[in-house]
Amino acid sequence: PILLFDRLGRLILANPEAHNVGLRLGISLYSHIGETFAEISQKLPDTISLSEVMQGGDSMEINFGKAGEFVIRIAEVPGLKKEVDSYVVVGQEVTGERQLNRSRSELLHVLSHDLGNTLSQALGYTDLLLTDTDEKDQIGIFVRRVYDALVQGKSLIRDVVEIEYAETQGVRLDKPFDIATLMEQVVQGLIVVAELKEQSLTYELSHEPQRPLIGNRSLVRQALENLVSNAIKYTPDGGQVLVRLDTNGAGVTISVSDNGIGIPADEQANIWERFYRVKSMETEGIQGTGLGLNLVRSVIESHDGRVSVESAPGRGSIFRVWLPYAPVEPEK
Ligand code: ATP
Ligand code: MG
Repeated sequence: PILLFDRLGRLILANPEAHNVGLRLGISLYSHIGETFAEISQKLPDTISLSEVMQGGDSMEINFGKAGEFVIRIAEVPGLKKEVDSYVVVGQEVTGERQLNRSRSELLHVLSHDLGNTLSQALGYTDLLLTDTDEKDQIGIFVRRVYDALVQGKSLIRDVVEIEYAETQGVRLDKPFDIATLMEQVVQGLIVVAELKEQSLTYELSHEPQRPLIGNRSLVRQALENLVSNAIKYTPDGGQVLVRLDTNGAGVTISVSDNGIGIPADEQANIWERFYRVKSMETEGIQGTGLGLNLVRSVIESHDGRVSVESAPGRGSIFRVWLPYAPVEPEK
């Protein structure tokens, strides 16, 4: 966006890009030619709060909320007698960069905080082991706690790395893959975990997918693994987890259902948010960081798929993922 103001600060010219940004803010710049910057900014809807950060020198950063964040540079245009004749204002949109930076520092914050916690737990129990090692039963319990803390730390790092990857990956190395085999592997890999809780974990393939899917196989695998491991985690001992693969229109639907604790209706929209965990009597004592489903959503959506949930407290949950087939190659 480029704007030109005369020496009294009245708008002389706005290029089409500046006009577009104006429209996103709810004002048509073309119809405010001749008005000053102050007059124009008074016309902004109240819902838009401008926050400016002076960067020193001749540039500043303005956050227009939904319309984006811009670095604005102002240059004086000298007239014939070297006096200031007009001002050129050039904006550069930095919304994407700023969001990425914020999300990175948020991730870093959580990583250091939660990883710090798991390490202190592991350290605490190791310390007990080194000083109070007389009782045999106690040793088993302490070692188990150290183990749990380390597993938690490891999965936290994995989640964070994957989210970072999914977000920064503007260009993905897409390859075709077979979803039926992938699901089979996901379920096989988690059978031991389900057995520890004496749960049944079954996989049903109702129809063979007609075509391969396309994308990052290992990210999709992680995403689906998250859904199945959630189902196991939020279902009490002895429960049932069922994974189904159905063909559906131009793609496949994977559903992961459990007869576990379920999710209250007013929480179902929140669970996809980063770090969000349902707080209830049932979830007390179940460890997690609340990153899993956020990862699931961002991976599936970046593969042009969709996610949804249906759940009733005390009855169980069904998570559904729809993923499209790879487009058919045109014949050469
Ligand atoms: P982690 O980052 O280790 O996966 P988490 O499991 O708490 O931690 P998510 O996978 O994002 O995080 O899930 C968010 C929340 O949604 C959970 O804390 C839980 O409250 C709820 N939830 C997810 N799956 C289920 C399920 N199958 N049944 C009941 N509640 C669930
Ligand atoms: Mg989870």
